[in-house]
Amino acid sequence: MDGFTNFLKSLALWELIKGMGVTGGHFFSRKITVQYPDEKTPMSNRFRGLHALRRYPNGEERCIACKLCEAVCPALAITIEAEERADGTRRTTRYEIDLFKCIYCGFCEESCPVDSIVETREFEYSFENRGENIMTKQMLLAVGDKHEAQIAADRQQDARFR
Ligand code: SF4
Ligand code: SF4
Repeated sequence: MDGFTNFLKSLALWELIKGMGVTGGHFFSRKITVQYPDEKTPMSNRFRGLHALRRYPNGEERCIACKLCEAVCPALAITIEAEERADGTRRTTRYEIDLFKCIYCGFCEESCPVDSIVETREFEYSFENRGENIMTKQMLLAVGDKHEAQIAADRQQDARFR
């Protein structure tokens, strides 16, 4: 009996009809494809994108050259050189992150006692030339200046859930 049923089904192209049923079901269902880059999916305030160095509202850089981020980085992606200023404060003379080495773990961000090095929501970046993977201190500060409002808002939102 089973064999005869299967024979009838094969004559009626039953498998094809079943497949078309699945296709038809998806054809009329709500589409979930996101039209990137015109549309974007929601992003967590803890998203770990491009790094930035932050400043205080008076323009002074936050980083005190304690080198905790350099020590904690599992990929050895951070290079810091520092010296004492005339006013006795310690500041970096060189702060670089090699984005080819970085694994975006966020340890640097977590270790920083003054909330200086952070990872922003920026993920749309690319390199065209050799060496552009090295983020210098000036580049990191520029990213921080550009995204400060978003960075501050994200940290405020984070603090509410701690
Ligand atoms: S995100 Fe992780 S791997 Fe990248 S620089 Fe920070 S500590 Fe290093
Ligand atoms: S970014 Fe933060 S953890 Fe890294 S050297 Fe500066 S103050 Fe220390």
